[in-house]
Amino acid sequence: MSKPDIGSDIQRMTAYCTYCPKMCRFTCPASSAEGRETVTPWGMMRLFELAADGSVPLDDDVAETFFHCTGCRRCQTFCAHDNDVPRALWQARRWAVKSGFLPQAYHDLYERFQESNTPYGESAFEIDESPFAAGATIGYWPDCSTVEHRPHIIAPIGRLLSQITGQKVRLVRSADFDRPPCCGFPLTAAGIEDTESCRHERWPALNELEQVWTDCPALAAWNHSDSSWSANARPEDPEIGHIFTLLAEELPNIGDPENPLDADDALLHQSCYVARQLDALDSVAEILAHICKSTPQQMAYSDEESPCCGGRCHYRVLEPEASGEAAKRVVESLDRNDDARRMVTTSSMCRHAMNSATDDELVTSILELVCLAYEC
Ligand code: SF4
Ligand code: SF4
Repeated sequence: MSKPDIGSDIQRMTAYCTYCPKMCRFTCPASSAEGRETVTPWGMMRLFELAADGSVPLDDDVAETFFHCTGCRRCQTFCAHDNDVPRALWQARRWAVKSGFLPQAYHDLYERFQESNTPYGESAFEIDESPFAAGATIGYWPDCSTVEHRPHIIAPIGRLLSQITGQKVRLVRSADFDRPPCCGFPLTAAGIEDTESCRHERWPALNELEQVWTDCPALAAWNHSDSSWSANARPEDPEIGHIFTLLAEELPNIGDPENPLDADDALLHQSCYVARQLDALDSVAEILAHICKSTPQQMAYSDEESPCCGGRCHYRVLEPEASGEAAKRVVESLDRNDDARRMVTTSSMCRHAMNSATDDELVTSILELVCLAYEC
C-alpha cells in the first residue's frame, strides 16, 4: 500500500488533533447526528495520521471513516490551531479512492454523474430560458441544487442579473446534456476525482465568457484562495464569483427594491460554505440590509459559528439518515425563538436539505428573497 503524499501542513494538522482534548467535539454535525466518536474531527484526523504512517492498515472500514465530514469547517472556528480539517480529509479521501477503497454509496453517485453530469440523474422539468442570451459575455452557472429543486427560480435570477449588469446573461449549460451541469464538486468531495480532472473533463465550455456568477458556494470556493479546496485559476477560464458578491456591491446602484421585505419573523441560517469557505458574511448582511425593512433574527450560534445542516450532497449520499437528522436539528432552532416562524438560509442546497428533512416549507433562501423584493 503506498503512503499518501501529504505535505508538512497536513502532518502538522493531524498531529495537533492527536494531542488535542477535542475542543471542537460539539461542533461537528456528522458526529452529533451519527452519535459516533470515530467520526468526530479528532477521530477522523487521528485515524488519518495512523493510516498515513502505516500504523493502521488502510482497509474498507478505515477508508470509509474519512468520508464523514461535510466540509463545514465549524470545527475550525473553535480550534486553537485553526486546523482546516476538510482540507486534510479531502486528501485522505483521494488517497483512499486511489488505493481502491471507494465507499459503496458513491458508486451510484458516480454513475449518475456519468449519465447526467449532476448528482441527481435525469430530470423531466423544463427551464424557462427566455431571460438568457447565448452570446452574452456574463454567465450564470446555477447551483445544481437550484437546478434540481428550484428550477423555476432560474429565470427570475436571470432577470435580476440582467437588471444589475445592464445586459443579457448567458445560462451556462453543457453541450451533451439538456440542462446546466453540476461543477463536479460532489465527485471531488467523494475523492473520486481531483480538481484538475474535474475541471478538464466535466466543465462545459466557458469560452467567450468574461465573468461567471454562481449561487453554488462550493464552486465559488474553488476560486477563493482561503477555502479548503481552493485551486489555481486556469488562464482559459473566466472569473468565477459568488452572486452574493455582485449583489452586495451592485444592489444599491439599481435603487431600492419595489417590494422591501419584513423578515423579522425569520431566523437567519448562514450556510457553512458561504460563511466559512467563502467568508461572505459581510455580503449577506449588506444584501439583507438593502432588501429588508426589518432583518431576520440571529440564531444562538450565528455567523462563523453557525451550525451545519449536513445537507451537502456527498454527505447525504453516504449517510442519508444522519444528514436528515442534522438538518432537522437546525430547523428546530425555531422552537427556541418564540418570535421566529420561518428560516432564511444562504444556500440553495441547505434550503432543500432542511425542508425535505422536516417535510415542510419553513425555509427559504436569500436569493429568492432578493428576486421577490425586486419583483423579478
Ligand atoms: S480540529 Fe482543532 S480543536 Fe478539533 S481536534 Fe483537531 S486540533 Fe483539536
Ligand atoms: S468540517 Fe464540519 S463536518 Fe468536517 S469534521 Fe469539522 S465540524 Fe465535522
